Amino acid sequence: MNQPMDQARNVVILGSGPAGLTAAIYTARANLAPLVLEGEPSSTTDQPGGQLMLTTEVENYPGFAEGIMGPELMATFRSQAARFGAELVTEKATRVDVSSRPFGIWVGDPEAAEPTYRASSVIVSTGARSIMLGLEAESRLLGRGLSTCATCDGFFHQGSDIAVVGGGDSALEEALFLTKFAATVTVIHRRNELRASKIMQERAFKNEKITFRWDTVVEDLEGDGALEGARLRNVKTGETARLTVSGMFIAIGHRPNTDLFRGILDMDDGGYLRTRPGSTFTNVEGVFAAGDVQDHTYRQAITAAGSGCMAAIDAERWLEAQGDAPGDLAETPTEW
Ligand code: NAP
Repeated sequence: MNQPMDQARNVVILGSGPAGLTAAIYTARANLAPLVLEGEPSSTTDQPGGQLMLTTEVENYPGFAEGIMGPELMATFRSQAARFGAELVTEKATRVDVSSRPFGIWVGDPEAAEPTYRASSVIVSTGARSIMLGLEAESRLLGRGLSTCATCDGFFHQGSDIAVVGGGDSALEEALFLTKFAATVTVIHRRNELRASKIMQERAFKNEKITFRWDTVVEDLEGDGALEGARLRNVKTGETARLTVSGMFIAIGHRPNTDLFRGILDMDDGGYLRTRPGSTFTNVEGVFAAGDVQDHTYRQAITAAGSGCMAAIDAERWLEAQGDAPGDLAETPTEW
């Protein structure tokens, strides 16, 4: 099923989170023999696989009534893609040239004269990452009380005292959502004025469960197996304090992984790839974007997977229109 190295691939998928692997499942089942550059292990995970590799229990992914651990869910995606012939390589693209077709993709030395792979189409699903505070304890406690997603993890904090860090719309949205579960929510903000919209501020100020720690930063987190508290410092007075919390949500912004595409693909001010509304088409014909790399609104595994499916269908139809798709599309599963 794998294509020879020197031949242009029908489709190369960049990234191996829910979007990339769903695109791999669908394009593999359409006989497109996709190649997935799944990325490389990072300082916080020993395997690529996106943000779910940093998550413990996932309870909101449909189909798993009892919940599933994030890394296990990604292993399931991976083996499903491999079962249909997707080729997965643990490599990271270092340069992409989409100025002419077939497109060029480099791994390793970006200055090499020839690309490592050539592709008739590319699905970009390189994801996004939450901006973190930069504390050493964060990697130890992420998924163990420390979280970047209230929708995902709020439910685990029924009746608890928890905190949210940040002063933007995300922080207040998370704080308001978390009041459905928590006994108290402390919003920790580094200034004495919120960046969030007035309407969100009003809602948060009105909510009796929410209190604010102004001019305050988190200096350290406490707890080994699970978060137990935080050490805070007032940036104006220098005063320090301990806050006992079993949950903390970091909501200080996200950064899409789009550095490779700067000046190449259209992106918004935040660096998110722009796609044609209702589709995964980017501004370059034959390049599609799926998952968090083009979504700063929903950011859920299920929405990323859904847009990975869309990208696979868009790519397959586009290739077919170009006359590049493999001959026997009659074998394409009918549920497409
Ligand atoms: P944001 O607007 O950039 O706000 C980030 C917040 O985090 C700011 O209050 C910032 O403090 C703080 N911060 C940044 N770095 C920090 C650090 N190292 N330590 C402590 N605090 C830090 O990001 P966002 O809230 O994720 O929102 C992103 C965009 O999405 C915005 O345009 C927002 O309006 C939009 N959004 C809209 C909604 C909605 O309408 N329902 C919901 C969510 C997001 P400073 O204020 O001091 O800079």
